[in-house]
Amino acid sequence: MDHDMQTIQIGDVALSLDEAAETLDAIRGGRVDAVVVEGLEGHEVFTFRDPSHPFRLLVEAMSEGAMLATPDGIVSYLNPRFSELVGVEAGTMQGHAIEELVWPDARGALADLLERAREGGSSRGPVQLIASDGLPVRVLLSISRACLADVEVLCVVATDLTEQTRQEDLYHAAREEIEERDRLFAVASHELRNPLGVLELQARLLEGLLESHGGGETLPVDRAKEMVTKLRLQAGRLARLVTNLLDVGSIGAGRLRLAREEFDFGDAVRAALELARDEIARSGSPIEVDVKPVRGCWDRVRVEQMIVNLVTNAAKYGLGRPIRIAVSRSGGLACLRVEDQGRGVPAEARERIFRPYERVVHGGRSIPGLGIGLYVTSEMIKAHGGTIRVEDRPGGGSRFTVELPLHLAG
Ligand code: ADP
Repeated sequence: MDHDMQTIQIGDVALSLDEAAETLDAIRGGRVDAVVVEGLEGHEVFTFRDPSHPFRLLVEAMSEGAMLATPDGIVSYLNPRFSELVGVEAGTMQGHAIEELVWPDARGALADLLERAREGGSSRGPVQLIASDGLPVRVLLSISRACLADVEVLCVVATDLTEQTRQEDLYHAAREEIEERDRLFAVASHELRNPLGVLELQARLLEGLLESHGGGETLPVDRAKEMVTKLRLQAGRLARLVTNLLDVGSIGAGRLRLAREEFDFGDAVRAALELARDEIARSGSPIEVDVKPVRGCWDRVRVEQMIVNLVTNAAKYGLGRPIRIAVSRSGGLACLRVEDQGRGVPAEARERIFRPYERVVHGGRSIPGLGIGLYVTSEMIKAHGGTIRVEDRPGGGSRFTVELPLHLAG
């Protein structure tokens, strides 16, 4: 072998050695997944990666939070989704208790889940974690006990329940609304049927009376008048119920529009008393009116309707005792007071009676009603920029006070 040939061979060996050293380096550095070696049986593939590598990839890509912890609840691994849920870097949680990620009120539930997983092998239940924004986030924790290289661990999977909770809330709200509507339909049909029945009966009686006097006898005027009054009373009740019901619909749909005009509040009180005349008369409550002139710009029909609602309530709940209606001006406000000497409104109910379908059972007695009159009234007052409140009347009974801005130009 000549000298040149030897030099070439040594160069080849050195090159192979360099390549081998590089390959070893790459293997040591974890940059090689597998090597292909040509052997007697042909090509053979040797892989270097941990066989659990695909599972790790899976856990890292999961849309559920995953965690490994020691049996006593110390975190050893968090996947990216868990870190994202709690807004904590995975590395900073290692060696810390899971408890630190859990909303204080839910720590008892977590301890219980850990205990059950340690004893029974697995457990599952809802828990609130502390989300990255510092607020509680509801998750379903599934914890199972496992053995990893002879060491006992807990595998924790957290499923975010935010969307589910939102759907459940929407479902419950919708159900409540449907139930409320069903209740309203039931009460409304009952309430409407009563005056309708009386109306029909009175009309039939009047008809019979007219027929029996068709032969030239004079019709007893008092008797006929009394019947017509009853007819009007029921028709008025029906009309008010229907108007209030229609208004509940308009308020709900945000369609309550005011048609303002300038008038004296006292005129509206007189008109309302005329509309409620029969009901007041039937209640037996005497009415005292103290009305000072107050002009303003309001929706006349609505103002009359709200006075009718307050006055008929005073008649209905006033135990036949005197009712006092006062109108005065205080600065830029018209002030209406309707006082009765009935059972009054208990303190507990003074806010809620202005909400729809809220009623009070007075002394165990159920007085018919829909529970919408005060709601409609207070919405109308709000639409005018005013306020309404109820308090005890000194000496017993209730006092409703309405204050409406005058809204006069100039
Ligand atoms: P309704 O009279 O049809 O029940 P309202 O909305 O007008 O509906 O009133 C709601 C509730 O407020 C009534 O059920 C009643 O319990 C209470 N309430 C209203 N006005 C008076 C009053 N003047 N005195 C005592 N309670 C009243």
